Amino acid sequence: MSGIRSKNTIPEMMVRKGVHARGFRFRLHVSGLPGKPDLVFPKYRAVIFIHGCFWHAHECALFKWPATRTDFWKEKIGKNRFRDLVVMDELARQGWRVLLVWECALKGKERRPIDEIVDSCAEWLLSSSTKREIRGQHATIDSAITHAKQGMPDDVLESTLRK
Ligand SMILES: [Zn+2]
Repeated sequence: MSGIRSKNTIPEMMVRKGVHARGFRFRLHVSGLPGKPDLVFPKYRAVIFIHGCFWHAHECALFKWPATRTDFWKEKIGKNRFRDLVVMDELARQGWRVLLVWECALKGKERRPIDEIVDSCAEWLLSSSTKREIRGQHATIDSAITHAKQGMPDDVLESTLRK
């Protein structure tokens, strides 16, 4: 979102190139909309944000609280998270559909194949889904396992994991 990370990052360029190649046309960094979305598809009443995992405190391998100036970062990133909620809310009220593509889907060890991400973006654009997120794949599995572990007996857990 504006002011908290740079535009035209490599992950963002990968998504832009992919969806453009599939025939979708969009505007970039539209300042007239809440949160200044990275890609805006007026025809589909849809916007895509490419979120940096650090700046938005994503629960994934790319985010870790800095060891120094802890209070400064907690306040800064806390504000970002709060602003994200306000922005999502405002966009929804204006009838915009929102897709978040997390940086960990595009880079690092949890990344997905770019074709898979672009396919998901294209499919979502043509759908009527109002909100979706695309994130790194291992993070999804890890958090699913963590979630599954909570309050589940070990034997049930094991049989779940074997499937
Ligand atoms: Zn992430």
